[in-house]
Amino acid sequence: MTDAAALLTVDLAAVAENWRRLKARLGGGACAGVVKADAYGLGAAHVGPALYAAGCRTFFVALAAEGAALREVLPDAEIHVLGGLLTGPVDDFFTHNLVPVLNSLNDVSLWRAACDKYSARRPADLHIDTGMSRLGLDAGETTRLKDDPSLLAGIEIDVLMSHLACADDPAHPLNKAQRGRFAEAAARIPARRASLANSSGIFLGADYHFDLARPGAALYGVNPTPGPTPGPGHMPGGANPMLQAVRLRAKILQVRRVAPPDTVGYGAAYTAQEPMTIAVAGAGYADGYFRSISNTGHGVLNGRRTPVVGRISMDLTAFDVSGAAEADARPGAWIDLINSDHDVDALAREAGTIGYEILTALGARYERAYVSGVNGAEDTP
Ligand SMILES: *Cc1c(COP(=O)(O)O)cnc(C)c1O
Repeated sequence: MTDAAALLTVDLAAVAENWRRLKARLGGGACAGVVKADAYGLGAAHVGPALYAAGCRTFFVALAAEGAALREVLPDAEIHVLGGLLTGPVDDFFTHNLVPVLNSLNDVSLWRAACDKYSARRPADLHIDTGMSRLGLDAGETTRLKDDPSLLAGIEIDVLMSHLACADDPAHPLNKAQRGRFAEAAARIPARRASLANSSGIFLGADYHFDLARPGAALYGVNPTPGPTPGPGHMPGGANPMLQAVRLRAKILQVRRVAPPDTVGYGAAYTAQEPMTIAVAGAGYADGYFRSISNTGHGVLNGRRTPVVGRISMDLTAFDVSGAAEADARPGAWIDLINSDHDVDALAREAGTIGYEILTALGARYERAYVSGVNGAEDTP
């Protein structure tokens, strides 16, 4: 299949289908694509055009440099920069036609000055904080602006936005509080469009949708409805309504027999309790296969669960393949680290983190293949 030690397959048809599924939930509302952090590690240069082909026209990145890189492959898309003006040279916003998200009244002044300097009146977005206490105008600044919208004089606001802190927990009271504060601000602050929902926010119901949704993680297969309390748009049992978009495989580099009292790996953190067969595969924590998976996670060898044994090394991981057919457990064969049966969220649970971190940590050393349709996208309408 390949000479590489590990292979990451990204299913662009699955990403496009996920975008269409999210868009379909929005009634007539628009759906953006959040492709910050290199499309959550999947590769923005591939994901961006795939989303564009599916009909997505509005993209969000975190940094100006990410916006400039995306502009190379998406000459006609709208590209918005969530981190705002301080993430790069202000020139970049003009040269690459990027829309900054202004996060304070001071940012508003900076943008006004920049537009004057370039003699170009360019729209900007405005982020108001409604309960996340991260980026955006604080409550005091928001009130000043609601009372005196002329503070925006000379600036055209495209997207008025806010960000939900607890959207993955439909029962959390902060959702309603944030929605209320945002709706109040949107009624008073003039803007072309209002935007509140991230992936999980889309599943909180229509009153969270406003004009434009901003999903990221769900596009890439992370479950936007992880429970425990079901919300209005949730599937029974918290099932994942999205298609898996990544498959990660590590090649078996060596197979060995161990028996008590042999130990496996650094720190002798695993001791063989009986004679067993160990497959050593070519991915480790330097590739984003987190060390916290040591002795707890598992891979899949030809449909068979193979537990991780011992500590994950920088470049290598040992799996217990005892009982597997010799034809399966052989050097050159592949162990699935992420696939449709052992998905990003499942691996994240084993690692003690979230699917977002698993994806954004996907290693630079993996050989990458971009395909369409391996995870069932072609079977769906
Ligand atoms: C990352 C981000 C999103 C996308 O969130 P997901 O949970 O990945 O859908 C949307 N809006 C803002 C402001 C973000 O930072």
